[in-house]
Amino acid sequence: MIDTHSHLFEEDFKDDLEDCIARAIANNVKKIILVGFSLETNQLVLETSNKYNIFYPTYGLHPSEATKNYYNDFLKFKEFINDKRLYAIGECGLDYHYGIDNKEEQKQLFILQCNLAIELNLPIIVHSRDADLDTYNIIKSFNGKLKGVMHCYSGSLEMANEYIKLGFYISLGGPVTFKNARVPKLVAKNIPIDRLLIETDCPFLAPTPFRGKRNESSYIKYICEEIANLRECTLLDIDNATSQNAINLFGLE
Ligand SMILES: [Zn+2]
Repeated sequence: MIDTHSHLFEEDFKDDLEDCIARAIANNVKKIILVGFSLETNQLVLETSNKYNIFYPTYGLHPSEATKNYYNDFLKFKEFINDKRLYAIGECGLDYHYGIDNKEEQKQLFILQCNLAIELNLPIIVHSRDADLDTYNIIKSFNGKLKGVMHCYSGSLEMANEYIKLGFYISLGGPVTFKNARVPKLVAKNIPIDRLLIETDCPFLAPTPFRGKRNESSYIKYICEEIANLRECTLLDIDNATSQNAINLFGLE
């Protein structure tokens, strides 16, 4: 399996990162995409991915970084990635959950990263929370030139199919295993298998039976298993399809 979205550089793992990696390998996780979201965490992604070859680094500026100073930060970001090995731009996107005071800055910062991804021929990893319509309209405005993934997708099946029409992938995480997650289960069951990715988003959003605890990459099997049950196929079917999709989208070796 490939965990397409993790933050294993976080403080939560400072005492047992090597154990976490060993557990992931023991549970058939072959590759882990390590996702940065700020100038500080991008540096941690770089250091961590240089140390362990299971990691594939991506760099981005999350919408929570969209301060008045966003353009300067973007220039620093661009400078930082200039000579780096990376597999995507992100995570980036829009998040109106904690307020919309910086809506304009968020949009501009997102658009800058979309343009950069196109320029570098890289996919983007999109974070969208309570901002469905604006996120969709920005992606659509690139007329199919942009490729990427809607990470930890939590929207409707209809919207998922609209993103797929634009050439995007849909990534599902821990919430698909939650008992009352009617909509994520509907999405898992019905989107085309060649557009599906799986992720943990660890340390956040641990799947059942670890809901509320620290998440880690080895738990990806619970997500894979739930999707297999919903689609009435085997775990290996979901593993094979989602691994191939991840290799295709991110150009993983
Ligand atoms: Zn994330």
